[in-house]
Amino acid sequence: MNQELILPKRLLMGPGPSDVHPHVLKAMATPLLGHLDPTFLNIMNETMELIRYVYETKNQVTIAMSGTGSAGMETVFVNLIEPGDKVIIGVNGLFGQRMVDVAKRAGAEVIQVHAEWGRIINPDDIEKALKNYSPVKAVAVVHAETSTGANQPLEEIAKLAKEYDALMIVDAVTSLGGTKVGVDKIGIDAVYSGTQKCLSAPPGLSPVSLSDKAVEVLKSRKTKVQSWYLDLSMIQAYWGQERFYHHTAPISMIYALHEALRLIKEEGLEATFKRHEQNGRALQAGIEAMGLELFAQEGHRLPMLTSVNIPDSADDVKVRHLLLERYGLEIGGGLGPTKNKIWRVGLMGYSSQRSNVIQFLTALESILSELKIKINEGEAVKAAENYLNNHE
Ligand SMILES: *Cc1c(COP(=O)(O)O)cnc(C)c1O
Repeated sequence: MNQELILPKRLLMGPGPSDVHPHVLKAMATPLLGHLDPTFLNIMNETMELIRYVYETKNQVTIAMSGTGSAGMETVFVNLIEPGDKVIIGVNGLFGQRMVDVAKRAGAEVIQVHAEWGRIINPDDIEKALKNYSPVKAVAVVHAETSTGANQPLEEIAKLAKEYDALMIVDAVTSLGGTKVGVDKIGIDAVYSGTQKCLSAPPGLSPVSLSDKAVEVLKSRKTKVQSWYLDLSMIQAYWGQERFYHHTAPISMIYALHEALRLIKEEGLEATFKRHEQNGRALQAGIEAMGLELFAQEGHRLPMLTSVNIPDSADDVKVRHLLLERYGLEIGGGLGPTKNKIWRVGLMGYSSQRSNVIQFLTALESILSELKIKINEGEAVKAAENYLNNHE
């Protein structure tokens, strides 16, 4: 006989998934309704409204795609790009690289604008590319590069995209619900996110929103969207008034997203951002007080994902293993060029709590001093508490 799943207790402080809010877990255990039941249709309508609330948009086409954040990425590219279209993509980490791969598979001619991992994309470089390769169909950047901890400013790049009549595409998988995305104010034409980062729900849905301009581009396609499952014109008919059956919505996940977004609305968008900001900066103050260095570019560090340079004398895997075994605490390692070079510590959604900041700093300090890694002992928690007391 297989055993019932009885699992160890974990504190999810990696780059996602983050801890799921207990109310969201409860919502997921609610009995199913049929996916065309009027009560469920109303839940879908409310979910669309709540997604508009967190994105801060009036976009009519605002829905939750069935699939994780990467499905949202693919949705945006396969719907807006036709073979031969030129797309400029900012690449300063793993998720920029993934966009390049996805856009190429959709037939795009991709122009990559690079920055070193950990640094932000320079708008001047985007402008140069827009000039050199005109006409360009779209410009795409990652708002919160979870692989590095860099926080990409969007205003200038969105302005440039508009000036050159290109669509502005933004990856908001890690930023949504943790920091302001402000879709309408910034002028974003296509945006996607995921449920398991700052929304405090399990992985499984991808909130996507398209501006009227992007909808026009979709409507005037010369070729059919190559993916049946991700074709937004059909998905929109399912989420819209027609309720035209496309695929069965993952009902329990919609309950989860509805509750997760309702909780954000209850806390208030600005209060949610402030909580992420405060806990993130407190953690960063603690890390620096310990004598460790932060990896991402100063002034452009994310509050919900902190990247830390691993001291030369420390064994990456061993430290993470001890955190997990002794304290049930999960953090992430580096990827690609940062493998074994950085730790990635998430404070996303429900995981972004003062007690988690203190617990993590205490656990890390205890492990590092046991392993005889040189740190300033007794300073980290003090610095974090100090920061929090002064920024309430
Ligand atoms: C996690 C993440 C993705 C991919 O989302 P999945 O849910 O893993 O498919 C894309 N972009 C960014 C910035 C992410 O952090």
